[in-house]
Amino acid sequence: MTENRQFYYKRCIPLVLIFVLVSLSVPSLSASYTRSERRSFQRSIVDSRSQLNRGFNKVKRKKTKYIIVHTSELGLKTTLKVVLKGKRVRQGRSTKGGHTHYVIARNGRTYRVLDKKYKADHAGRSMWNGEEYISNSSIGIELAGYHYASITESQYRSVGILIDILQDVYRLDDRAVLTHSQVAYGKPNRWFKNNHRGRKRCAKNFIHAKARVKKAWAYDPDVRSGRLWADPQLSEVFYGRRKPEIKTVERNIIAGNISAWSIAGEDYDSRSTVYKLPGGQVYTGDQIAEAIGWNRMPVKTVVLLNQENGISLIKRKGPVKTISERLTAWSLAGTSYNKKTTFYFMPSGRIKSGPNISDWDDLAAQTRLIVGYRGPYKIYKNRSAFDIAGQKYKDGKTLYYMPSRKLLAGDEIKDFKQLPKGTMVFLPVT
Ligand SMILES: [Zn+2]
Repeated sequence: MTENRQFYYKRCIPLVLIFVLVSLSVPSLSASYTRSERRSFQRSIVDSRSQLNRGFNKVKRKKTKYIIVHTSELGLKTTLKVVLKGKRVRQGRSTKGGHTHYVIARNGRTYRVLDKKYKADHAGRSMWNGEEYISNSSIGIELAGYHYASITESQYRSVGILIDILQDVYRLDDRAVLTHSQVAYGKPNRWFKNNHRGRKRCAKNFIHAKARVKKAWAYDPDVRSGRLWADPQLSEVFYGRRKPEIKTVERNIIAGNISAWSIAGEDYDSRSTVYKLPGGQVYTGDQIAEAIGWNRMPVKTVVLLNQENGISLIKRKGPVKTISERLTAWSLAGTSYNKKTTFYFMPSGRIKSGPNISDWDDLAAQTRLIVGYRGPYKIYKNRSAFDIAGQKYKDGKTLYYMPSRKLLAGDEIKDFKQLPKGTMVFLPVT
């Protein structure tokens, strides 16, 4: 007992004192979240480091000055694959992964991809305050999702806590937190005759305040000093006077004030960027100059990024769309993903309408979906396809879902008398 107490006084009290003194002398810079919030967040991180491409060369980072937030422009599964295993680049070559330190899913779950002490190749050609190659001096965080869709509350919470922790570890203030679109820059191109911002649109929908990052930059130091030209759209988003909430309501559709450049940045003419024209024709970025011409892109053209092999799926005509690794419900339905006129046909055979879907990234590959429909109307002995759909029962837009899980359009059905019992009809909303 006495011995124990002696031990306690001799060893523990000094340790506690040292701890208290250290915590007092190093005040927390931000501490937007409580210690217990941080601790339970840290425990919840999924460690994916063992899945990193073995060819990735780990190099320790010499300094850490920034935390860079990205949007992956993909669903969770493909995001993890790309950052861990690598991505295809020009001329058919592939990278060796290690493209971020963390990935945050839309439900807030956070994955550790690479130990934070190593350099991740995430920012590419970049500059901040005159310093280039920001990957050498920063931590990368990927949010699963798109720069033109909203970031979820769960993502803001996780990224907020993660930033809070990293700020403490590396003694960083709020101005160290930047988005990829803020720091990326491009070489002169057909849109700019000088080095310029706008190479990336990445995380342009990130609202610093929602991650409890209070003091964001009020201007772009490299634009102010004349090193780079501003990108009008990005300057408005990050340094303009409008409220940030308004800025996230945007889509990946070309309009009078939204060009291919303002959606895709430097990937506008890439083979992996797919353009779906209002007439239904589909082109990749590298085909546009010859096929249409950049000045003549029709409004309402849909732009999809990172579609390495997805073009054949996009090309498929007809109202039934299929979710795949690179085509999420968001890229197929946009803001309509959770509307009651959007229906999902799960591989399990269940049918759900938009309001029953919690997030567009939670849906399995091979799920089919239709946008702008009402129903279902069941066919009975005394209720025929004609009774339900009228003259349009044979129309290509009238859809029939069979008990065998086949989904056919009216013009694909040869004999309506042979329609199996229990077939359900979906009608387009006019
Ligand atoms: Zn990025």
